[in-house]
Amino acid sequence: MDCFAIFFCRSGKIELKAECNKGYVKVKQLGLNPTSVDSAVVGKGNEVKMKPGQHLHVVNQLYPYTVQFKEDLTGNDKRDRRPREPTEEDGEKQKSTLTMKATIHTEKDAVSGSPVEATKTNVSVGHWSQGLKTSMQDPSMQVYKDDRVVVITDKYPKARYHWLVLPWQSIPSLKALREEHCDLLKHMQQVADRMVQQCPDSGSVRFRMGYHAIPSMSHIHLHVISQDFDSPCLKNKKHWNSFTTDYFMPSHDVIRMLETDGRVTVKEGTSELLKLHLRCHVCHREIPTIPALKEHIKSHFSK
Ligand code: AMP
Ligand code: ZN
Repeated sequence: MDCFAIFFCRSGKIELKAECNKGYVKVKQLGLNPTSVDSAVVGKGNEVKMKPGQHLHVVNQLYPYTVQFKEDLTGNDKRDRRPREPTEEDGEKQKSTLTMKATIHTEKDAVSGSPVEATKTNVSVGHWSQGLKTSMQDPSMQVYKDDRVVVITDKYPKARYHWLVLPWQSIPSLKALREEHCDLLKHMQQVADRMVQQCPDSGSVRFRMGYHAIPSMSHIHLHVISQDFDSPCLKNKKHWNSFTTDYFMPSHDVIRMLETDGRVTVKEGTSELLKLHLRCHVCHREIPTIPALKEHIKSHFSK
């Protein structure tokens, strides 16, 4: 994940973009004051890469800075950079990822000894659970939007079609819902219905729309998911049970609950549903493993 900061100092203006995964900081000189990385002059409007150990000079050689990456201290520095869905388990490790930051340190001002106004800039990367807030703003993820909601493709789809409907209004989770949100939820449902109607396979595959009782991602989101569950991202029991047991709360039920009770409550023990034995959602037969289950459900969907 990238970190981004514009860094001002008394005598110059530069933009620093930390590429945390790649281990360098991109330095762009915005102002006129000469900036260099080691001996390489950046030049106004230009960008160069700065690695740990190199020195950034703002205003000729007057203000030297170094860059330091504080990385995952758990020792889980994964060289395999393939995109992978973050998990709850990552939450613990992420405590250190949260502190992963590019820190720009000033060294003692060698010439005048005078303090530099901006001596340190910390740039924190967002927690994975906030990822939907980024994705909903990303045009390449958006498939529909209006003045109240946006629909994005799920980044780790658990079926051939898997969209998320999110309101622009900031509502963290089901718990924050009140009666006044009923209209919004109905609109989200209508948009979801329209997505399904417009799907070329809607005649042959069933869809369900609902909320995870205990979501892992922040910002309320309505899942619209085809029931083929044909996806390499569906990897484990937790994934399966979150969409095929009462852990998945149908949109209509959530709206009804909000209308009658003024809030949404999740039954005690709901998290235990994720541990249930795997069961086919069509014929309800128990199947021992995910690969066997995937093979089994193909028989229901082969034409
Ligand atoms: P949940 O919070 O359990 O209701 O599910 C969150 C959903 O968001 C999952 O289906 C993930 O595959 C999906 N997801 C996770 N991170 C992102 C992201 N950055 N952008 C889009 N979808 C995501
Ligand atoms: Zn079956």
